[in-house]
Amino acid sequence: MKLAQHCMSAVPLAVAAYAATSGSLAAAFMAGASSVLIDCDHVLDYLLCNKRWGGLPHFFAMCDEGRLPRLYLLLHSFELVIFLWLLVGTGVAAAWGVGLTIGVTGHMLMDWVGNRHLVKQSFYWLWYRAANRFDGNELYLTPPDPLHAVANEAGRA
Ligand SMILES: [Zn+2]
Repeated sequence: MKLAQHCMSAVPLAVAAYAATSGSLAAAFMAGASSVLIDCDHVLDYLLCNKRWGGLPHFFAMCDEGRLPRLYLLLHSFELVIFLWLLVGTGVAAAWGVGLTIGVTGHMLMDWVGNRHLVKQSFYWLWYRAANRFDGNELYLTPPDPLHAVANEAGRA
């Protein structure tokens, strides 16, 4: 999913969190913020793969076109979503935590549905990415050509 789509979804998620917590502004803020900022883990993947910051256009091109050879995306994990809902369900989470959970869950569902034409169905499980060594060649439905090119060049070398 694109950043603009996540920004637009932040509003209804914030409203949902506000309603779910009987009017907590902290919950509304955390839902909206977390539903966008969870994508910061793309920056970490980009820096790990690219070794340097190449500017925003290069960053978005690498991410949107699926050109990162390794996909760690530690925050994009259904394991995290389950953990957060356990905190909410057991009453441990404060109102802002409920908002955080709603924001993260909304983002993950949008990514899971919206990116199903790009990545394998189990992609958003951290264990699944780890089991595939976070390798883009294994995780994308159709690995982009540069990945194949790198793999082929490595095979020839
Ligand atoms: Zn995302």
